[in-house]
Amino acid sequence: MKFDTVIIGGGLAGLLCGIRLLEQGQRCAIVSRGQSALSFSSGSLDLLSHLPNGEAVADIKTGVEALQSMHSPHPYALLGARRVRENAILAQTLLADCGLHLQGDVDSDHQRVTPLGTFRRAWLSPTEIPLKPATNLSIGVVGISGFLDFQPPLAAASLRKRGINASAEEIDLPVLDKLRDNPSEFRAVNIARLLDKPENFSELYRALLPLSRSYDTLYVPACFGLADSAVFNQLNQQLSCPIFLLPTLPPSVPGARMQHLLQQRFSRSGGVWMPGDEVTGADIEQHRVTKLWTRKHEDIPLTADNVVLASGSFFSNGLIADRTRVREAVFALDVLYGEKRESWYRDDVFDAQPWQQFGVITDERLRGKRGGETIQNLYVIGSVLGGFDAVAQGCGGGVCAVTALAAAEEIAASGGGK
Ligand SMILES: Cc1cc2nc3c(=O)[nH]c(=O)nc-3n(C[C@H](O)[C@H](O)[C@H](O)COP(=O)(O)OP(=O)(O)OC[C@H]3O[C@@H](n4cnc5c(N)ncnc54)[C@H](O)[C@@H]3O)c2cc1C
Repeated sequence: MKFDTVIIGGGLAGLLCGIRLLEQGQRCAIVSRGQSALSFSSGSLDLLSHLPNGEAVADIKTGVEALQSMHSPHPYALLGARRVRENAILAQTLLADCGLHLQGDVDSDHQRVTPLGTFRRAWLSPTEIPLKPATNLSIGVVGISGFLDFQPPLAAASLRKRGINASAEEIDLPVLDKLRDNPSEFRAVNIARLLDKPENFSELYRALLPLSRSYDTLYVPACFGLADSAVFNQLNQQLSCPIFLLPTLPPSVPGARMQHLLQQRFSRSGGVWMPGDEVTGADIEQHRVTKLWTRKHEDIPLTADNVVLASGSFFSNGLIADRTRVREAVFALDVLYGEKRESWYRDDVFDAQPWQQFGVITDERLRGKRGGETIQNLYVIGSVLGGFDAVAQGCGGGVCAVTALAAAEEIAASGGGK
């Protein structure tokens, strides 16, 4: 099977890259083994909130310039401030085109409210997610009885500590009784499958109505809206006060929606989506990937002018750690990691963890290397890359989006675009 580009991994990075390549007229396939990190994410995307030394970043241009001046291996430092900013703006347009209604902008980030009732800086957030509220508002943080993946008393107490007048409330929804019988099934995504049904709207509405008369704003767990904002919009039209949604413990409804809409756009634009398959190996000749072997297609290789590796970090087995080393799983690419295992971790789990920065090393065009030699047609994007800490530096989603679009740009510039 011959394509212009084959992408390994269909998470945020792989899908954004694929959608952009299709826009450039490429014939493109994505092979993706399993669920991506999006299903476990908040649905908000971070661009760059902190430098490796812990200093807060004022704006993306000065942030990237600071990374460069400290010779950081961060992928942004490789690309430079102009390309990071331009591709972040392009990502905003592309995400909006896919039907994702996101607030925030590369030049004006925001503080979102987290499920723990704290405030966290973000680049883009679903419009349903609340931003840091004014202190004069009374806020009801509403749980669903029996649902343990969202804790209103915790969130409300934390908001009160930050000067916000918040109280915990609970609603009972008998329509969910069939899920309640099995606690492992009583999760946000399964609840959403029921609450998204039009016939269940009135029960949800009736449960929230009295609370909406007692508060200025309600925060409700993100347990509806798998495909769109219909229920959210209808509630906001009919209740007596505005409501917002807080992400729950995974699986995450806002993350699942992002995955669904990007996947839908990729397939509708003519991309070949190969779910449940995995790239198990590759032939490399004269510093070029010539064949990809997959588990399902056995002896029929995939061939392509260019290959993009978007296989994710340890979480998705794009990177694998054994006792003494860290390796990239498909091509055995050169990886940045600490020589001694003791240097991989810090004892305090709340410290920035060195292993978070482990990942693939590339050249300035994002091409992977093996034994120090660049593989000419293999681009590496997203969280399989090394040199950054998505958590401590607040840049996970941004690195994925920016490197995905930068790789598509590189492929077009190399004559890969049509
Ligand atoms: C649990 C979690 C929560 C996060 N939350 C946030 C957040 O809220 N905001 C934020 O900005 N960032 C967050 N991040 C950072 C996160 O890494 C990125 O935002 C992003 O979603 C990662 O996307 P990715 O495409 O690089 O990799 P992934 O989402 O990990 O996707 C990689 C895909 O490749 C597939 N794959 C792997 N190997 C193969 C193979 N050999 N063949 C075929 N397919 C393969 C995997 O099955 C997976 O589907 C989070 C990360 C994690 C782990």
